Amino acid sequence: MRVLLVEDDPMIAQGLQTALRDGGFAVDWMRDGAGAAAALRTAAFDLVLLDLGLPRRDGIDVLRELRRRGDTTPVIILTARDDIQHRVAGLDAGADDYVVKPFDLDEVTARMRSVLRRAAGRGEPVIQHGDLRLDPVTRTVERGGVPVNLSAHEYAVLEALLQRPGAVLSRAQLEDRLYGWDEQIGSNAVEVYVHGLRRKLGSDAIRTLRGVGYFVPKA
Ligand code: CA
Repeated sequence: MRVLLVEDDPMIAQGLQTALRDGGFAVDWMRDGAGAAAALRTAAFDLVLLDLGLPRRDGIDVLRELRRRGDTTPVIILTARDDIQHRVAGLDAGADDYVVKPFDLDEVTARMRSVLRRAAGRGEPVIQHGDLRLDPVTRTVERGGVPVNLSAHEYAVLEALLQRPGAVLSRAQLEDRLYGWDEQIGSNAVEVYVHGLRRKLGSDAIRTLRGVGYFVPKA
């Protein structure tokens, strides 16, 4: 899952980035509203964490532009405790949820999972697909009731593919979900993770559409 974090306070941003990366998210950080708007026009994100008081362009304004072009990317706004007026304005401008600063990191990631679940049209947090069971809260995978030990990157690839069984994701789309802009990507990294997943889950678990990408067959 690739997250755009828009926050001008470096202390908050760094704490969040570390926690999110530990939680298996790829994070890109923008410090101002104009940069965030540009990033949202050019790249695809699974979720946006959006501060409202930002240099160069207000967060609400960035959010309104996003929704005006019909972009439904989930947005969680980050607001100060006494800032009810902005919180309401943010929700009315199309935010999906909010967290109040200073926030608890566990609450932020729980709200992110909840918003991502709704965006994927699922009420149930666990993804069950055939005999595969993926739990985004514990980040664990079972096959036929037996735990499968996956690396963080293998898990991220499998989670991305299981969001929409049958849909093909290209190598570039999978790379986007694995890394932030400032992280190095090995040219065959995705192939390596897919190979690892096939070894652990069976060679049929992930299919290749030659020259296009990878998919999980519909159950
Ligand atoms: Ca701010």
